[in-house]
Amino acid sequence: MNKIIFRDPNITIFQSALFQTNTTVITTEDVILVVDPCWLPDEVLHIRHYVDSIRQGRSVFLIFTHSDYDHIIGYKAFEADKVFVSKAMAENPKKEEILEQILDFDEKYYIRRPYPIEYPNGDFTVFRDGVQYRQGQTKMTFYLTPGHTADSMMIVIWQLGVCLAGDYLSNVEFPFIYHSSIDYVNTLEKLPVIHDRNWFTRMIPGHGDPALTINDWLRRRTESLAYIFALRESIATGIPFDESSLWARYHFPRLQQKYHLDNVALMTREFEAGLWEWDPEFSLQDINNVHPVEQQTTASKEEETENV
Ligand SMILES: [Zn+2]
Repeated sequence: MNKIIFRDPNITIFQSALFQTNTTVITTEDVILVVDPCWLPDEVLHIRHYVDSIRQGRSVFLIFTHSDYDHIIGYKAFEADKVFVSKAMAENPKKEEILEQILDFDEKYYIRRPYPIEYPNGDFTVFRDGVQYRQGQTKMTFYLTPGHTADSMMIVIWQLGVCLAGDYLSNVEFPFIYHSSIDYVNTLEKLPVIHDRNWFTRMIPGHGDPALTINDWLRRRTESLAYIFALRESIATGIPFDESSLWARYHFPRLQQKYHLDNVALMTREFEAGLWEWDPEFSLQDINNVHPVEQQTTASKEEETENV
């Protein structure tokens, strides 16, 4: 059964018994937001009953940070007034495969769900950074954050000073890079810019504990970058990666070693394709990487007041 790992007057985080996966329920005067409702049927129903009990006539919006099956598995347990996804998630060519993963999981553990398994059908699709949506006084800003998957996005709830990060900045998982290490680094580089434009202190990851201070999530960001650059150095130079220090920091190697080795394979393919280089001397290349972030700032300024 899930447990509530964080609660304040506006935010309740339900954490699944599986993989410390978080469902965040956000309550404002205007709306109830449910982010990535998940995992086991009783856990999802528990969240649904909670939402019904606090709803008091307000609209319920579902937000999906990305299309990984563990994050969409509770979709149809809710009757949402609106569903928010990235455009890339709405157009994901692997929808059927993702649904198969859910069916595989449920069948493997003899699980029955009292609701249908469907891929989220977005009413509001986020296609660029800085897009906003307002419901009364509640203002959300969306950012595209590819890297973990191609269709990841983050959401900032302005008046609560909170960012829903999806599968980034976990304290129990190093970066799981399914899509691109280049995009992953760009997303991490973009975070301070997102912060400067929105000012949030708290960040809620898809797995593990919320980061409740700026220092906490900045440290996680640095750890994520350090992991990726150490892996790049190892791949480019042939010097073995120090796995023991990875497992001193992250405590589930029996599962997570597979994700680490998948990262090595993906980043080796990227290196061989010339998608990134390793410069042993620190490195104009890193400084040059700042430029896309600056362009990003300009872009989001222009879009600041836009409602789509
Ligand atoms: Zn994920």
